[in-house]
Amino acid sequence: MATTTTTMAAAVHLPLPQLEPVAVEGCDVCRALGKQRAEARTAGNMSRVSDCNVEIRAHSDHHGGRP
Ligand SMILES: [Zn+2]
Repeated sequence: MATTTTTMAAAVHLPLPQLEPVAVEGCDVCRALGKQRAEARTAGNMSRVSDCNVEIRAHSDHHGGRP
């Protein structure tokens, strides 16, 4: 009897657009991060887009986004 090896497919991270943090209008930091994210998306660099989302989400705490 042959031994079969089952391999789990690696999880693929697909960030959904609706889950992306929104840059706050009038904030220079948000605007800069939002610009970087847009440029990364245009360049097809989804890894960088994800990084920008993390930065925007972390920064958004300064806007009182916490409950
Ligand atoms: Zn901001």
